[in-house]
Formats: sequence, C-alpha cells, structure tokens
Amino acid sequence: MAVARVYADVNARLGPGWYDYERLHIDWSEPDRYEIIQRVGGGKYSEVFEGIDMTNEETIIIKVLKPIAKRKIKREIKILRNLTGGPNVISLLNVVHDPVSRSNSLIMEYVSNCDWRELYATMTETEIKHYTFQLLKALDFVHSRGIMHRDVKPQNVMYERENRKLRLIDWGLAEFYHPDTEYHVRVGSRYYKGSELLVGYKKYDYSLDMWSVGCMLASMLFGRENFFRGRDNDDQLVRQIKVLGTESFEKYLEKYGLYIQTDNTALLESYPRIPWTRFITNENRTNTTNEALDLLDRLLRYDHSERLSAAEAQAHTYFNNVRLETTSKSAERFSDSGFCST
Ligand code: ATP
Ligand code: MG
Repeated sequence: MAVARVYADVNARLGPGWYDYERLHIDWSEPDRYEIIQRVGGGKYSEVFEGIDMTNEETIIIKVLKPIAKRKIKREIKILRNLTGGPNVISLLNVVHDPVSRSNSLIMEYVSNCDWRELYATMTETEIKHYTFQLLKALDFVHSRGIMHRDVKPQNVMYERENRKLRLIDWGLAEFYHPDTEYHVRVGSRYYKGSELLVGYKKYDYSLDMWSVGCMLASMLFGRENFFRGRDNDDQLVRQIKVLGTESFEKYLEKYGLYIQTDNTALLESYPRIPWTRFITNENRTNTTNEALDLLDRLLRYDHSERLSAAEAQAHTYFNNVRLETTSKSAERFSDSGFCST
C-alpha cells in the first residue's frame, strides 16, 4: 500500500460531500456585474483579466476558462470553494456564465502581482524566508484538507511585495488525495516536476508539492531562475540526477520497483552527488546559510516519502526568527525589502 506520510485519511473522514466534485451542481451568476479592465495573464486553460465589481467598485480577477472538460471545471471550483478563506490561498468570489460568449469564468480576489523574475532577482534573505514560510503555510493548510496542488511554481504564486502578501493560485490541476490511488503523471510544469512524475510513479501524494517548493527555494537561494532546467521530461530527470547523483537514484528505483525506458543515453550514465555548498557564489553567499541548505536538502529528495511535509518544513530551524515574527508581528525586519516596479 502506498500511503501519504501525513493527512492520508482526510478525505475518508470528510466524506464524499467534501471530495466528490463530479456531484457538484454549479449555480452560475450573470456576468453583468463585472467589467473587464485589462488582460493580466493567461495560460493553457484560461485568459485572465483584471476587472471591477460594479456593485462595490472593488478590483477583482476574472479567469475566463477556455472550453475544457466539465469535470475539470467542477474540480477547480469544488477545490477553490473548499479552500477559500484558508491562509494564503486565493479566494474564489463568484462563478459566472456568459450566455453571449458561452464562456465560464471564475471571479477571484485580486493581487497586485510583482513579476517573480524581478522579485527573485532582488530578494533579500529576510524575504526568501518570509515568502517560503508563507507558501508552506498555504500548503500545509491545503494538504490538511486532503488536496494536492500539483502545479506549484513561481508563476502560480502571486506576490504583493509592498505588503509582503503571498497567494497560491491556479487550482486547475489540483486533485483530492486518496491513499493507494494512481494519478496522472502528466501534471505540473517541467522545471518543477517531482522525480515521481518523471519516472512514472503514479501513487504519489502531497509530497509532490514539496519537491516544487524545493525547486523554488533553490532558485531563490542560489539566484538561478529555474534550478533544474530540462529540455524535455527525460532531460529534466537528467538535470536532477546530475545534482542528486546516480547512487541514490538507483536505490530509489529499486525501492519502488521502477524501470526507466529511454533512448536518452545521458540517463544511463553515472553522476556523483554534488554537495549543495558547490552552488554557493559570492553573490548568493548571504542567503546560502547552513540552515538554508539543510532545509533545501530535506525537500529535494527523489523519494517523496523522505521529503519534509509542509508542517515539518515550517518547524525547521531556518525559520526560527520568522516564526517569532508571525507571533510578534514586527514590521521592522522588513525595512530592508524593496518594492516592485510594476
Ligand atoms: P497555466 O496554464 O499557465 O498554468 P492557467 O490558465 O491555469 O495557467 P492561472 O495560473 O490561474 O491560469 O492564471 C494565469 C495567470 O494570470 C497567472 O500566472 C497570473 O499572472 C494571472 N493571475 C491569475 N490569478 C490572479 C490573481 N488572483 N491576481 C493577479 N493575477 C492573477
Ligand atoms: Mg498557472
């Protein structure tokens, strides 16, 4: 039996009313109340606009869904409804159907987002700790509610730098976790895909998200935009092995009875494990403390069962002063943090 190390029985306890999204009946509102101001983004599954709620003049986000499977729309809405109000999770305010364009949209809380590339390039050590901690807080909540995000990456985290706000967005690939269940491995975004997705291990769990957090932390600490940067999925795995080494990779495959079928010969070669200290440069020296590298090391493990859970990561010594701060609400510590130009 493959069972998550934490929160394994949450959905069994909460029952189908919580997780059976196919049963969800959606009452779509009319779109009249919302006006589009400008496009702010979009992806494979949507076009996203900044808009105004005319009833209260509030700025909101309109995520116009492209024609996608009903089941997937229900899943995103059910998950957002279950999670709205949780710490650092984007709030779903309404769902609307426009009969003219025949489109469905999600109305969401607006975040004045700072482009992550700009943010990551100028982040202070205090900010790295703060944002990573806030992301972990969101994920511990999400996981404790029986849900895996499955697409954690910088583009799916909104950062409002002026008030240090962070929101986890894009619940389009999120799914309920049930023990010993096979899930699709074609989820996530290449640079942030956990090893399990790349070796085809289907009975993964919440710990998939923890690999992605590790990738984001590595990118912030070392000042490298995407830490593992593969050309395709096989090459993505090669990038991981070139850092974590072949020896533990083979133990990992053996433990889970996995075989690699590939025509990428680089995957079959032997690589030594590279110590994290090897990535320290003069530019990133202040960020790459022993505590930081120790935390990183406990997140970036092939074997998902070895990765820290979100709650365990929050308890790591790296966050000692952040935990104090959340309780004392001291703003002074952030006086060294900059603002975003957008
Ligand atoms: P993808 O296919 O790229 O993963 P998607 O189609 O599922 O994306 P989202 O990730 O939810 O859509 O949103 C796309 C983009 O729109 C985000 O990366 C972000 O730039 C912008 N965006 C989404 N929600 C918000 C929000 N609440 N506040 C500000 N910007 C947002
Ligand atoms: Mg997205």
